[in-house]
Amino acid sequence: VIEIAGLHKSFGSLEVLRGVDVRVRRGEVVCVIGPSGSGKSTLLRCVNLLEEPTAGTVSVDGAELTDPDADIDAARRRIGMVFQQFNLFSHLSVLDNLTVAQRKVLKRDKQEAERVARENLARVGLAEKADSMPAQLSGGQQQRVAIARALAMNPQVMLFDEPTSALDPELVGDVLGVMRQLADEGMTMLVVTHEMQFAREVADRVLFMDGGGIVEQGPPAEVIGAPKQERTKTFLARVL
Ligand code: ATP
Ligand code: MG
Repeated sequence: VIEIAGLHKSFGSLEVLRGVDVRVRRGEVVCVIGPSGSGKSTLLRCVNLLEEPTAGTVSVDGAELTDPDADIDAARRRIGMVFQQFNLFSHLSVLDNLTVAQRKVLKRDKQEAERVARENLARVGLAEKADSMPAQLSGGQQQRVAIARALAMNPQVMLFDEPTSALDPELVGDVLGVMRQLADEGMTMLVVTHEMQFAREVADRVLFMDGGGIVEQGPPAEVIGAPKQERTKTFLARVL
């Protein structure tokens, strides 16, 4: 579903991605791990063109986003993204957070948007919070709302950038639980995470990035359980 080929990204003279190739098949969960500054977020942001690649191609669901003639908005609609910071609209209720984009972008009417919103709130275990304001929720609940909001757009693919890094430790489990459930339902997911346990148990494949490239990739039992590259070993020794 996601096909990234020869992806380069520079900020001025700083080369952050040095030729990255990634393919994520339908229903696959791919976790990206690696040290700070290795280019993980930049990779994700290039997938939905929050950053414009310097070179290379990105295709989602057969449509090349990097094609100058591409309908970027249509392509983005197929991609849900969840960030470390939840980015909820603080002045809107939970329900309204889930309906705005559905109505604006997908042109769903109010009734339909609310139906889909409630369905997805239930999916993340927050059906009863529809009328709450974001500030009344815990960080973990806010992040689950952010996930529900992305799901309400019926994405083909979900991108997660360290969705649990900003959470208190006791709230991490609920969010990972929702992500695990999504994976079980067959959602295609590209997940940047420091949660090695999650990567081990849920990922079909793990990519280790360092210095703007993929150093090692494979099933979690290999990359995390028995890494071959020195750089992967050094990284894991620090985080495990
Ligand atoms: P972390 O684990 O800390 O989130 P990361 O692997 O996600 O790190 P990136 O955020 O992709 O790393 O950043 C990679 C490099 O690109 C860093 O050196 C960063 O300073 C640089 N960088 C990222 N975004 C920009 C930008 N908009 N302008 C200039 N430099 C940037
Ligand atoms: Mg990052």
